[in-house]
Amino acid sequence: MAQPPPSVINDRIYVLRTRWEHYVSGGAFEHFIEFTVAVNSLAEYFNRMRLPGLVRICEGLENLALTRLGTPASHPIGAQDIKVLQEQLNALLDAVTASRPPVAERRVDDHATETPDSEWIKPRSVWLVVASEMHEMAAALRKQLDFFGFQIHETQWGGQQPAGDVPLAVLFIPSPTRSSNTEELAYIARIRKHCMASQLIYLGALPAIDTIVTLMRSGIDETIPQEEGSSRVLNCVLDLVQHYEPEKFRVLVVEDSRVAVTLIQRTLSAHGIDSHAIRDPGALLDVIESYRPDLILMDMYMPRFNGVEATRVLRQMSAYTSLPIVYLSGESDVGMQVEALRLGGDQFLIKPFNPVLLAAVVKTKIERFRETQRSTQIDGLTALLNHTAAKSQLKIMAGNMTAHRALTVVMIDIDLFKSVNDTYGHPVGDQVIRGLAWLLKGRLRASDMIGRYGGEEFLIALPDVSPEKARLVIDSIRKDFSSLPHAHPKGTLFATFSAGIASYPDFDTAQSLTEAADNALLEAKRLGRNRVEKAARPASFR
Ligand code: GH3
Ligand code: MG
Ligand code: MG
Ligand code: MG
Repeated sequence: MAQPPPSVINDRIYVLRTRWEHYVSGGAFEHFIEFTVAVNSLAEYFNRMRLPGLVRICEGLENLALTRLGTPASHPIGAQDIKVLQEQLNALLDAVTASRPPVAERRVDDHATETPDSEWIKPRSVWLVVASEMHEMAAALRKQLDFFGFQIHETQWGGQQPAGDVPLAVLFIPSPTRSSNTEELAYIARIRKHCMASQLIYLGALPAIDTIVTLMRSGIDETIPQEEGSSRVLNCVLDLVQHYEPEKFRVLVVEDSRVAVTLIQRTLSAHGIDSHAIRDPGALLDVIESYRPDLILMDMYMPRFNGVEATRVLRQMSAYTSLPIVYLSGESDVGMQVEALRLGGDQFLIKPFNPVLLAAVVKTKIERFRETQRSTQIDGLTALLNHTAAKSQLKIMAGNMTAHRALTVVMIDIDLFKSVNDTYGHPVGDQVIRGLAWLLKGRLRASDMIGRYGGEEFLIALPDVSPEKARLVIDSIRKDFSSLPHAHPKGTLFATFSAGIASYPDFDTAQSLTEAADNALLEAKRLGRNRVEKAARPASFR
């Protein structure tokens, strides 16, 4: 029988294991730090691969390790602590093995020595655990998940777990009339134990803190209120399979000491964080605008202005009121630290800094910051980018264009949508809009930008795609959309859309691309709707 081929994931697991073995045999503080960093980078890898279950287990291990980090003097740690960490490490390794598709089912190229990560195929099965009165709702959800190619296994609360692969997600749909009882919680805990890497979603939790905490303790990852229902569920599940490459975290280091800059940048880059350093805070405003940092590490004492003064200036500008600013200083006077925080800083780290702590502070602050930024950019109905965010994203993408790259912009508008609203009512119209949003999300790449530009209008940007190729892709989505049934109280209805396409370099700014795509869309409407039209090249190109 063939051995599983080596891959990036195997390498990382190997690194993690050997670092742990080094530490166990020698007990050196440095080896413990290296082990912690390896756990963290594995968590990041799983995060990029969108495997939240494995991220959760890694983070559990990282937290355990951090609580035992201490100082060089507290190493080696005691036998009991080693045992606790070893158990969590074993649980992680088991979960990684269980999440992997069986070797026999993998496509193995005889000549390949390296398996690309795309072969780390995620299970596409979803289990539904459904209370008997919720069958109708579950059936609708099943149909939607089915449409996106998920395999569904349905079972009852307390029922036997489906055989076969570990699922991508397990969806619990309880009875809406009573709150969860101990048997249900025990059942959730049992599934959690069996499916460590799966995302467990509970639909129908009351927005009460103790209910949600109890569910989380049993192993639920995400709770969704009943009224948000199937749309959120589908979004959550689609998000799990979307292989997205988040932008690297960007940190601006404002620090006049060369030695400190080198140490900081080394630590950040070891954690995969991009950084840019300036030694003169006078350049701050220009650099922030061009580099767009997610966080600033600000030295306290610099020539010309100190860190607190620079921070106060930034806090007066509406664009930077919530940008995280972390002070780095040799100052250990508490009164001074409090004063600095009061004047706009988010945290204070003392130099010489602990690299693990620096990385943890930077990462958690950036994650929070990006999360809050995201919530102002997302459209509530479809979870796509909203109008403003889509426009500014396109501007960034168009600004990054160089002569040898392609960028195609598509404008989509649903046909005769007023009549859908007039005939079936607004809620049904909303469902049609969502249906198109999901279809686009399911069919386009993670690197593509999709925004809800207006009521039933969508703006899309496809990097490195020629207009010809874009036309084929959008046209096949158009065909699929026209055969997608939308439910309404008396049956199903069908809808269509028209699209206009414009590309760089025919048009070379975000605005001209959008306008040209919009004109092509109008032409598609004029020619009879349910079709895709390309913008004519401007006269200067002919
Ligand atoms: P055309 O083929 O020319 O695009 O015809 P149309 O009826 O779709 O015309 P138009 O694009 O001008 O109409 C858009 C309609 O979409 C108007 C408005 O009632 C409806 N609409 C806009 N936003 C929403 C929304 O969020 N939900 C629902 N249900 N309807 C919306
Ligand atoms: Mg200084
Ligand atoms: Mg419209
Ligand atoms: Mg329309």
